[in-house]
Amino acid sequence: MQFEDLKIIEPVLRALKRQKYTKPTSIQEKAIPLILERKDVLGSAQTGTGKTAAFAIPILQHLYLDRQQNNSPRKVNALVITPTRELAIQIADSFTAYGKFTGIKNTVVFGGVNQNAQTTALGKGVDVLVATPGRLLDLIEQGFIRLNDVEYFVLDEADRMLDMGFIHDIRKIIAQLPAKRQSLFFSATMPKNIVELSKKILINPVKVEVSPVSSTAETIQQYLYYTNRTNKKDLLLHILKDHNIDQMLLFSRTKHGADRIVHTLKRKKIKSAAIHGDKAQNSRQQALAQFKAREIRVLAATDIAARGIDIDKLKYVINYDIPNTAETYVHRIGRSGRAGEDGIAISICEPEENGYVKAIEKLINQRIERVSDNPFPQTDKPMNEAEKKEWDKEKQRRKQEFFANRKQKAGSARAHRHSH
Ligand code: AMP
Repeated sequence: MQFEDLKIIEPVLRALKRQKYTKPTSIQEKAIPLILERKDVLGSAQTGTGKTAAFAIPILQHLYLDRQQNNSPRKVNALVITPTRELAIQIADSFTAYGKFTGIKNTVVFGGVNQNAQTTALGKGVDVLVATPGRLLDLIEQGFIRLNDVEYFVLDEADRMLDMGFIHDIRKIIAQLPAKRQSLFFSATMPKNIVELSKKILINPVKVEVSPVSSTAETIQQYLYYTNRTNKKDLLLHILKDHNIDQMLLFSRTKHGADRIVHTLKRKKIKSAAIHGDKAQNSRQQALAQFKAREIRVLAATDIAARGIDIDKLKYVINYDIPNTAETYVHRIGRSGRAGEDGIAISICEPEENGYVKAIEKLINQRIERVSDNPFPQTDKPMNEAEKKEWDKEKQRRKQEFFANRKQKAGSARAHRHSH
């Protein structure tokens, strides 16, 4: 199937050609005709499936045709809510790219940065607003945004939105939307609470499903190293000796862990950066830009931060730890091998995580290939209950020590500044 077969208007087709998109992806093939027919859609799709274009293209088309009928001053006619700033920026960039020849204007608002540039952009008039929930409500309260004219509403990454505790914000936003509208709801997973939420938003929705969460992309080769906790860093450095690995997205369960890994890699002169919620927005943007430009080799990310990253043709993903929910594993490795490319997902498993591997293999219904050429094989056994308790205490102690050190360092730096 071609984009032409989907009854897409010429200005959008031209922009897609410019993007070098030759064929619609599966979700695009399924969702675009439904959205053009003004149906509400419940889409089950992950990032990497082309879902942004699946909703952006038909919305742009609606807005373009609406504006041909009635060229009144621009109002927010389409609203897209998404959980992270990175995703918000990427979605807005997609609207800009696909809408290049339509004259439809968009802007993006998200928290963590000064709002002035955002309110200035809003003041100029936009048709499409892409937003994270908190900042959107903030700007509504201050009177910079009204949702009275929203005709097209998209809730993106609903499951992640709930994971991040945005449920109250979402309810408040929905309450302000006009009843007469078209709504599109996307989520990678469809647990009960998500289905319940979707019922509050959608009217007679059509379900569209691509690559359900239990089916990992066939193009992704998955490998597993069993090792000891204390050898994880060495094993990572061993894996990175392979110079074919020119660009790797590394997942760490914790922000602190991501920072520590970057510290280790930098000491070994491996260019790397961490991106997670404690980093300032511009440092996250910078790390991402450097990674995309291949100025850094390893980008260490937490699950939430990584969720919003869009990097074309990412070949290597590494799980520095095994996620304790199997769905997270599927999300993580879904970051490689996107849009028909080959991908390689490597996982490093310490004894405590052995059980998680079993859960993952059950979910994906597939055995992950064990790497036998491993200089740091697993020799330790998982801890028993008493050892676990002891280890938890030890971790607590180390954490306290870390923060005490940091406080002390900050204190002495202050003293140093005052003495000058
Ligand atoms: P998404 O799932 O929206 O995050 O999109 C994943 C990636 O696929 C993005 O980098 C898009 O630019 C790209 N993409 C989307 N649609 C197509 C298409 N029809 N052909 C090729 N690449 C696409």
